[in-house]
Amino acid sequence: MKIILLGPPGAGKGTLAEYLIKKLGIPSVSTGNILREAIKMNTPLGKTAKEYIDQGNLVPDDVVIGMLKTRISEDDCKNGFILDGFPRTIPQAQALDEILSIDSVLCLDLPDETVERRMTGRRVCLTCGATYHIVSMQPKKEGICDKCGDELVIRKDDSAEVVKDRLVTYHKQTEPLKEYYNEKGVLKVIDNTQSIEHTVKLVFEALGV
Ligand code: AMP
Repeated sequence: MKIILLGPPGAGKGTLAEYLIKKLGIPSVSTGNILREAIKMNTPLGKTAKEYIDQGNLVPDDVVIGMLKTRISEDDCKNGFILDGFPRTIPQAQALDEILSIDSVLCLDLPDETVERRMTGRRVCLTCGATYHIVSMQPKKEGICDKCGDELVIRKDDSAEVVKDRLVTYHKQTEPLKEYYNEKGVLKVIDNTQSIEHTVKLVFEALGV
C-alpha cells in the first residue's frame, strides 16, 4: 500500500505514521527527517537544506524529488510505504505520479491556532526521528528519547515565528494538493481534532485495515 500523509506541520503525521508502520508493516519515509539527518551530518545536501528549513521555507523541488526517489527505490519500500511530508507542492506530486500510483492520501487538517499551540511543546530526537510533546506525549525520562536514549531537542523551525511562516507556506504551496488528490479520487479527509487514538481509528477505518 502506498500512502501519503497530508496536513499542516504539527498535525501529527509523524505520530500517525508510527501507528501505520506497526499496523501495515511498511516503512515511513519522512523527507523532513532525511533532511535533518543530512544537516546533522553536515553533508552538501544538509548545507543547502538548512537555510530553507530554518526560515520556514520549502527546500527546492528538484532537491527533494531526487532524494525521495532514491529513498523509495530501496528494498524495504518494495511492498509500499507511508510518505510523511512529501509531496508538499504540485510539481512534487506530479513527479511522484510519473513513477507510481498512490492508493490513499490521508488529510489530517487542524486549525492554525491548534498547530501553533502544539508546535511549541514539541520535542524531537535528532538521532531516530521520534517526536514527543511536553504535555500530551511525554517521554518516560524527561529530555531523553524512549527509543534510542539520545537527547531530545526543540527543533529550530518549531519556534513561534518560524511556525507562522511554515503555516503560510503550507496554505500557499501544500494545501492545493487536497484538490489535486481529490480529483484523482484518492483523498480521505480525517477528523483530526480529537485524540490521536481517535484519529488512528478513523484512519484504519478509512484504509479498511
Ligand atoms: P517536516 O519535518 O516534514 O515538517 O519538514 C521540516 C522542513 O523540511 C520543512 O519545513 C521544509 O523546509 C523541509 N521539507 C521537508 N519535506 C519537504 C518537501 N517535501 N519539500 C520541500 N521541503 C521539505
